Amino acid sequence: MEPIYYDIHCHLAEFADNEIEQMMTSMPNLKVVAVSDDIRSLNRVLDLASRYQGRVFPCAGFHPWSLKDHQLEEAWQVIRLAERAGVVCINYRVHGLRRSGEQEE
Ligand SMILES: [Zn+2]
Repeated sequence: MEPIYYDIHCHLAEFADNEIEQMMTSMPNLKVVAVSDDIRSLNRVLDLASRYQGRVFPCAGFHPWSLKDHQLEEAWQVIRLAERAGVVCINYRVHGLRRSGEQEE
């Protein structure tokens, strides 16, 4: 039995279509959890999930590092899009906690 490889946090929307096609063709046992940073990348990730059903799993949200650059209305738009697509993703950052190696702001 061939192993199945999962990339559980991939910014797939940042790759060109031909790069993704090459990736998916050359690694048939690869499944990708495709995160999004904003509405634009969420739309792209939803499109890719539709194109590669069962292999690309979309996640909706904003990148925590650029959260301050988005308006509240954008968050509602992302939530509505995610609900329509049946996507659930939680990605949060608690103030005061840092991942190892992160510098204090
Ligand atoms: Zn990331």
